[in-house]
Amino acid sequence: MSALPPPRRSEWNGLQLYQTPESPVAIDLSDNTSRFGVPPAALAVLRGAEDEWIARYPSGYGEPLKHALAAYAGVRPEQIVTGCGSDDVLDSAVRAFARPGETLACLAPTFPMPVRFAQLNGLRVRETRVGPDGSFDPSALLVGDPAIVYLCSPNNPTGACLDGDAVDRVLAHATGVVILDEAYAEFAGTSRTAAAPALGRVLSVRTLSKAFGLAGLRVGWAAGHEALVRDVELSRGPYTVNALAERAAAAALARDVDWMRARVAESLAARAALEAGLRALGLEPLPSHANFVLVPCAGAPALAARLRERGLGVRAFANLPGYGDALRLHASPPAEQDRALALLKEALA
Ligand code: PMP
Repeated sequence: MSALPPPRRSEWNGLQLYQTPESPVAIDLSDNTSRFGVPPAALAVLRGAEDEWIARYPSGYGEPLKHALAAYAGVRPEQIVTGCGSDDVLDSAVRAFARPGETLACLAPTFPMPVRFAQLNGLRVRETRVGPDGSFDPSALLVGDPAIVYLCSPNNPTGACLDGDAVDRVLAHATGVVILDEAYAEFAGTSRTAAAPALGRVLSVRTLSKAFGLAGLRVGWAAGHEALVRDVELSRGPYTVNALAERAAAAALARDVDWMRARVAESLAARAALEAGLRALGLEPLPSHANFVLVPCAGAPALAARLRERGLGVRAFANLPGYGDALRLHASPPAEQDRALALLKEALA
């Protein structure tokens, strides 16, 4: 008997796995994580892990962590949803708020995962250009009343905060759900998270992977109206934040917020040095409000491959709409960053 070919959803044709680095490199500035240490209270919790935390399930929907996040964000615990990284929150939200055939509207270029989640769910995707200063046309974004508008501020990979007036117009006129991805809010020093619940249809999505330096634990979260966050929870199963991560994250939020703010200040100083170093090499990094910069640079993919051979990982983009080829690098402590700039100088020569 010959085996039938495995069945496959037609929406999945042509999809590739998310591109993650094939092998570790000595200096990895490719993923916008923090190189400035790990919150001490979180580390202490992990080192003191108890057998029961591992043998038992964690809390169903991260209830203790919701309390810690609510205190951090200035909202109520029932206005918080947690997830296995903010990718998981975005995935669940896209599933919750649009039916197959409906539209997700977003800016281009932006963080690609929501577009992928939209494709997986059979949604149409409509893109509107965003400028290097975060400017965009809100009416173009809202054409056809999309079921979901995805906005990212500061925007990955360009780095700029989105124009505030344009975001206000989207929030005022969208008839669907607005997912506002604020993964880099701590670096920008501003967010709409506390305001989101009162806006009804706005989900402010955040993460502990960036400023808090906890990417390996995979803890993401969002704030919004209680009915909205409940629908995100309904769209998936329980236990998405593991028992070690939820305890470590809650400890960091309770005791390490000042520590995190000090690391953000270091990261911003390092980003200024990175920008100066790139300019000294004749490059023009775009203005950034995050812990990374985007540098337009012809032949970026080949350059990134040469850098990888020398032990430096950076993110390369080929032909980004409106920007061309570009490299994205995140800030890191002086010794590592100086070495990275020296390797870049060599590879450019
Ligand atoms: N949103 C944005 C804008 C990001 O850049 C990233 C990570 N690259 C994420 C969400 C996902 O982060 P995580 O799943 O680690 O929370």
